[in-house]
Amino acid sequence: DGSNNQFSFKPNYYYSFEFFPPKTEAGLDNLMTRIDRMTRRLEPLFVDVTWGSAGSTSARTLAVASFAQRYCGVDVLCHLTTTRMTQQQLLQALEQAKSCGIRNILALRGDPPKGKRSWKPGDISGGDCDRASDLVKLIKEEYGDWFGIAVAGHPEGHPSSNSTEEELEHLLQKVNAGAEFIITQFFYDVQLFLQFVRRCRAKGITCPILPGIMPIQSYSSFVRMTRYCGISVPPHVMEQLEPVKEDDEAVKEIGCKIAADMCQEILTASIENDEYGIDGLHFYTLNLERSVTRILLRMGAIDLIQPSQVATDTDDPSALQQ
Ligand code: FAD
Repeated sequence: DGSNNQFSFKPNYYYSFEFFPPKTEAGLDNLMTRIDRMTRRLEPLFVDVTWGSAGSTSARTLAVASFAQRYCGVDVLCHLTTTRMTQQQLLQALEQAKSCGIRNILALRGDPPKGKRSWKPGDISGGDCDRASDLVKLIKEEYGDWFGIAVAGHPEGHPSSNSTEEELEHLLQKVNAGAEFIITQFFYDVQLFLQFVRRCRAKGITCPILPGIMPIQSYSSFVRMTRYCGISVPPHVMEQLEPVKEDDEAVKEIGCKIAADMCQEILTASIENDEYGIDGLHFYTLNLERSVTRILLRMGAIDLIQPSQVATDTDDPSALQQ
């Protein structure tokens, strides 16, 4: 068709890719090239760019977001967190995002400050905007419908949460304040995710919910991250990984199979039961290209026309070092 696509497309669902801004100029250049290539080849519905605690990455986040929006022709969802940001700083960040042509914000509270695992009062912001719901309200008040707003959901419960019911109530507050869709924390137990969606629907949360899928890149990082974030790992996932845990390449390959199986299970459940209403997938790419491409290939979401495209892909291991 004369376009630069090496792939042809047939899925009846969409997908999106998360990236984080690298620390160095060279890293930024590499990432921009990669986002450009991935958006052309894989056609995500949107890409999103993370935001560091207290605005620590603001310039780099906005540089990547602005590049993707302006030069890759893909819609961008820019993360924004309230952590240690005054209302004035939040408004300044929103103004910058607007001037870059960005139309979508993922409104978040933010990770705990560096070196801390939990929060105490005063850690969070200047006191103006302590919850993600406060940020949703602020965006709505100041910008009306200029920004589409997304928020985070936690299928296994947020670590600081007291009860599932309370947490759902807070999620509903974010939606009622103006959030249009939810992206979830990553998970490996599809049944827990589906249960979360059923609970959301029963609570009256009807907006799209995008399951967060994190491809497994190495056995040690997988074990570390799931333990740290308190993410359940079903026995069948461990059984597939254990035998190959010393072989990084095999772990990646099995990781793609696990992720593709999860995606298929979610989409199938949604086809079989209207209640779920899941029609999209969200990938935490960790700035890597190969795993997401392989997962989409496995799912038949893309047809490979030139097999060499995946084989010659150069995943940059340093990209994992945030
Ligand atoms: P909130 O929605 O504010 O909820 C946090 C906790 O507070 C929950 O337990 C909730 O139940 C509770 N709560 C909410 N309202 C009330 C209330 N009124 N009273 C009492 N309790 C309440 N972090 C980053 O720093 N940068 C990023 O770019 C980033 N991107 C992310 C993307 C996704 C898709 C996800 C799922 C997470 C991301 N995070 C990011 C991590 C996120 O910031 C943390 O998980 C954070 O601790 C919670 O954020 P939240 O927006 O869910 O918070």
